Amino acid sequence: MVIKGTTRLLGVIGYPVEHSFSPLMHNAAIAHINAHSNEQDTADFAYLPFPIPPESLETAISGFAAIGLHGFNITIPHKQTVIPLLDEVSEVALAIGAVNTVWRSEAGWSGTNTDAAGFLAPLKAMNKDWSNTPAMILGNGGAARAVVAACVQLECPEVWVVGRSPAKLETFAQSWTAAPEISAKLSVLPWGERVGLLPKAGLVVNATPLGMHPQIAASPLTEKEMARMGAGAIAYDLIYTPRPTAFLNRASAAGLTAIDGLEMLVQQGAAALEIWLKQPAPVAVMRQALLDYLGAK
Ligand code: NAP
Repeated sequence: MVIKGTTRLLGVIGYPVEHSFSPLMHNAAIAHINAHSNEQDTADFAYLPFPIPPESLETAISGFAAIGLHGFNITIPHKQTVIPLLDEVSEVALAIGAVNTVWRSEAGWSGTNTDAAGFLAPLKAMNKDWSNTPAMILGNGGAARAVVAACVQLECPEVWVVGRSPAKLETFAQSWTAAPEISAKLSVLPWGERVGLLPKAGLVVNATPLGMHPQIAASPLTEKEMARMGAGAIAYDLIYTPRPTAFLNRASAAGLTAIDGLEMLVQQGAAALEIWLKQPAPVAVMRQALLDYLGAK
């Protein structure tokens, strides 16, 4: 990658941000576009990580405007707190209550959420009618919010969110009152209910860190429990390392369709890049950059 006087800056903010795979994925895409373009400088960008402590978020966003930053991704813990600092926020991001992609627009800073689109990509690729597929989401954290919005968009008839904290579940349920199309389909249930719901759930999503490094032996469901899922059911783990997780190993052993979180990561990044560069993202290159890196680790 050649950094010149004209090169514009993209990045990711988080705290910490060292674990982010976004710089790797986006810089690989930028390099690929430049190497395969007929015109010069079609992606004259560089993408950097910015560790920004919560108390510096507002100053950082003003600073980004001052230096003409072209756009940025947002990861934990800024996805919610950035919203009041933006000039325009998309409907989907407002419904989810979190922004992961920001760009400079006529309004100033505009933000949206590409996690839901990223989550949906491998499901939409199945070309399936989802109107008879109730979805169960394990966990009620930040990622579960994007998954709920996505499942409603997919037209799943019911969306069940199971979590271990009754107070957090209640807050989760209350938080959708401004999105009636979502709250109409959403039920929140105690963690213990998940096994009983398995035979009815056509799509089960792990949105907890159970199974992620370092607790790689953990799984939200046992193999015996997963055998209760119906033929053709889908187990989707948002975790992308390790691949596969214990949850997905069990799903495959039970004859279910297993989807891991790598494609969501790739597709949310591709959707962000398309917003910034206003051209199709080289999705295969982004996926391969991640696979190479994860394989090498
Ligand atoms: P989060 O906001 O911290 O939420 C985690 C959720 O899991 C919370 O509801 C938490 O419950 C629950 N949980 C944690 N440990 C549990 C346990 N032992 N038993 C039952 N529930 C438990 O995290 P997040 O941002 O939503 O991320 C969740 C997962 O998705 C992570 O593994 C993350 O890596 C993955 N993710 C993947 C992508 C992707 O692009 N593929 C994107 C985002 C996230 P409490 O609220 O009670 O603590």
